[in-house]
Amino acid sequence: MAVIIALGSAAGDPMFYEDVALVPSLVVFVVILVVYRAIIWLAAKSEKVESIVEGDPVTIIRDGEIELGNKGNSPFAHDEFFAEMRAQSIEHMGQVRMAILETNGSVSFYYFPDEDVRPGLPVIPEYYNDRCDTVTESGEYACCYCGHTRKLPEGKHQCIRCEKNDWVKALATKRIT
Ligand SMILES: [Zn+2]
Repeated sequence: MAVIIALGSAAGDPMFYEDVALVPSLVVFVVILVVYRAIIWLAAKSEKVESIVEGDPVTIIRDGEIELGNKGNSPFAHDEFFAEMRAQSIEHMGQVRMAILETNGSVSFYYFPDEDVRPGLPVIPEYYNDRCDTVTESGEYACCYCGHTRKLPEGKHQCIRCEKNDWVKALATKRIT
């Protein structure tokens, strides 16, 4: 992306302004392409360079629950990720065994077989928005922040994983593709 923007900028100036010469832009073109090729070559030679330049895949769901960072934070925005799940016809996180955020920004999903699907955090707004901090009817509830799911009696409860107090009724539907 940065290379495309830099090339566009270098090509644009001599097109728009009469007093900008063509040769400096060509030099910029050549330098950018040489540096870009050098980085690609180095990344192919060294895993460390590749990891710095392209990043590493990150596991974001494991066994139906969001992986939390060192400080108990979830490392991404829920809304975008939920949209990504809905695009894959996922109704709730209990259907997902593992989700991995790839270095190109896409998410790879691995599913539980039907018999192992467990109650999970709904990602459909109609259900997700029906959240509460006090359980008024006992049942299976999912933590809105980390997806941890458990049976809760009536009353106020704190999530044992993320210590938040925000619940929604868990869904347990099987995955239909
Ligand atoms: Zn939680």
